Order: sequence, then structure tokens, then C-alpha cells
Amino acid sequence: MKKLYRDFQTIYGLNHLCPLCGKVKEVICRTAIGDDLAEDWRLSPELRRAFDYREGCSCRHCGATTRIMNLALTLLEVINLNNSTGYQFAADVDWQSLTALRLAEINNCGVLHDYLGNLAGLSYSEYGSADPAIRSEDLRRLSYEDNCFDIVLTSDVLEHVPDYRLALHEISRVLKPDGVFILTVPWLRHRKTVVKAKIDHQGMVELLSKASYHGDYNLRLTDYLVFYEFGYDFVQDLQNIFAVEIYCHHGFGGLITSVFVCRGRAPGNDLTPGRPRPTALSR
Ligand SMILES: [Zn+2]
Repeated sequence: MKKLYRDFQTIYGLNHLCPLCGKVKEVICRTAIGDDLAEDWRLSPELRRAFDYREGCSCRHCGATTRIMNLALTLLEVINLNNSTGYQFAADVDWQSLTALRLAEINNCGVLHDYLGNLAGLSYSEYGSADPAIRSEDLRRLSYEDNCFDIVLTSDVLEHVPDYRLALHEISRVLKPDGVFILTVPWLRHRKTVVKAKIDHQGMVELLSKASYHGDYNLRLTDYLVFYEFGYDFVQDLQNIFAVEIYCHHGFGGLITSVFVCRGRAPGNDLTPGRPRPTALSR
């Protein structure tokens, strides 16, 4: 049986280099999780420190956060496996040579976005984009055709999507059968997923408990409203659709910094091109 968890340090020996800029990793740490969010999320002091490490610690040179470093490491491994290359950091990659790679970056992946922009086959979108130069995509209704992407990337997006299972089906639809969906979500594996909000029959947001926001808490931007606090059952939802591995940065933060890698399709997932799209799912 395939091992579900993988440890980066067994894969990469150069753990002292920033996987984005390639400079010696020196991090600046700040508090990222405010009191309001920590209280809403019921985070213990230890978990709060772990999420501060994930979101608040960043490369002094390029600004990549721990989350984006882990995402980049995972993407590099997929690229290396597919192309028989040995890239160690994003700045080292000859992005323009990857002419066959079709990659969907659904919402900005932080510092990694600057590198992905060199890909000829990049489809970059931001939900609700008002900028005509940037495509807007809703993960529940992607406008892309079936089986068109080698890689789909989302980083801390699914918890803000009102029906994340529908989003997973949509991502499975647009991925090639041998494609890879690489994602991060805030994930607490010792809890069950909590639904914080949903969309009601009038299409309005209905809060099921006190509203919780990511990003600047004081702004309370609708895009950053939390619909789900993901727990252990999130992995099962992924496994219902994909074959899943979890890449874990072995260090402080532990599984809080996990990256999920969803390859191909799970047995019994009969999603095929041209099939009817799934109707909205709800818990
Ligand atoms: Zn860096």
C-alpha cells in the first residue's frame, strides 16, 4: 500500500536553501494568526505557533512563506519527475523550456506566482477579478475544458469555496488523467471538518457560527470568509476522487505545513470527459 505521508528531508538534502530564490534560508518571523482568528478557530497556543510558522515566517531574501516554500518544493518534485530534471529551487528552473506543461494557478500562489509567470502554458486566474488582464474563475464552475491541465495549483483557497467537494470534482474534470493537483489548506488532522458557513437558497451567505476570516481580520473581506475548517475527513474527500499523497515538511509546524498531492483518479471515480457535471453537494 502506498505510503500516504512523505517527508521532504528524505527527498531533498538541500533543506538549508530557500526553495524559491535558492539563497541560504534565513527567515523573518512575525505573528500571522491574530487573537480573533485563534479564538474562533479554537487553536491551542502550540497550534497557533505552528500556524504562525506556516504563514508568518518568510524568506528574508524573497519573502516566500513556509507554506509557499513547501508548495514550491512539491511542485519542483513533480516537474523533476516529469522531465528528468534535478531543479532544487524555483529560480533555477528553466521555465520557458517547459513548453508542453499546462498549469492552472487558481488564485495567486504568493512568491511562486512570479516564477510561474514564465510558463507559456500558465492559466492564471483570481476569483472575482476586476482586472481585465486577469481571468476570473470560480472553482465550482471552471470555464476550462475537460482533461486539459497537467498540474492544478491551489494554495489555501478551498476553505473559502462554499462547496469544496464540487470544486474537487471540477478540478478532477479539468486535469488530464495523469495530471497532478497540488494543494494546501489549513488542516487540523485531529479534528473533524467544521462547516462555518454555506450559501442559502437565495444565494446569500448563511453563517452557521461566528464569522471567521483569513487575511487581515479587520478588513473582513468576503473573499476571505472561512466556509470550512478542514479536519481529518478532508483527506477522505480527496481520496474519493484522487490518489492522494501528503508531503510534509519535517520540522516545527509538522503536518500543519502539509502539501497534498493528488495524482490521477481514485478507483471507482468514473468521471469521464463529457459527463454531466455534478450537482451541488452539501454536508
Ligand atoms: Zn527566498
